[in-house]
Amino acid sequence: MNDPIFQNVDDYLADLFRLEDDVLKSTEESIRENGMPEHSVSANQGQFLYLLAKLCKAQRIIEVGTLGGYSTIWLGRALDGKGKLTSIEIDPNFAEVARKNISNAGLEQTVDIITGDALEILGELSNNGHETIDLFFMDADKPNYVAYFEWALKHSRKGSLIVADNVIREGQVLDENSRDEKVIGVRNYNKMLSENLQVTTSILQQVGIKDYDGIAISMVQ
Ligand code: SAM
Repeated sequence: MNDPIFQNVDDYLADLFRLEDDVLKSTEESIRENGMPEHSVSANQGQFLYLLAKLCKAQRIIEVGTLGGYSTIWLGRALDGKGKLTSIEIDPNFAEVARKNISNAGLEQTVDIITGDALEILGELSNNGHETIDLFFMDADKPNYVAYFEWALKHSRKGSLIVADNVIREGQVLDENSRDEKVIGVRNYNKMLSENLQVTTSILQQVGIKDYDGIAISMVQ
């Protein structure tokens, strides 16, 4: 799925809608300069996340997997300075880069980046009486997607969105004999969603500069 047309159309849309400002560009630059994996969502995907946050009138967002804070900035901007976004990153060096980018974006009042393993951090948030969330975005640690979903559902309200990235994996999701833990993780996740009556789900296939993958959007009933 390396057809250049997908990248070209992504670039065309990003240009047409002027999706990336200097803050987002310098965030991507910081990821390259620090030798971090270039695994941020694309500009078009960032705009999509921003729109989802707006649609559910999000004031409380949790993100699993910060990297350099690129998707965090898109989601943080949707809060309009009023809510709170907590983003969890396991790598302390990545979290440090992300904090600088969040500060550069002027979002340090609304965005909190916590360093640590997401499942452990979420457990701590629960123990501290964590309030209801409006949007949960998981973008790391595919084998634990079902566990993240269960946490998110427990802390949701009617209409909250639970969003999971990379659930198609260039079609590897079709391979029921796969031994890849990420494929197994998203296969379990998709199956669980298909059987869970507490959410309504749409899984969209996506192509673009991030190759061929997909995103699951579930609304709590
Ligand atoms: N959401 C980011 C964006 O679009 O800008 C990209 C996130 S990247 C795909 C995944 C990130 O999750 C990596 O930075 C990785 O270090 C982090 N990660 C992996 N396992 C994790 C875990 N168990 N808990 C928290 N973060 C984790």
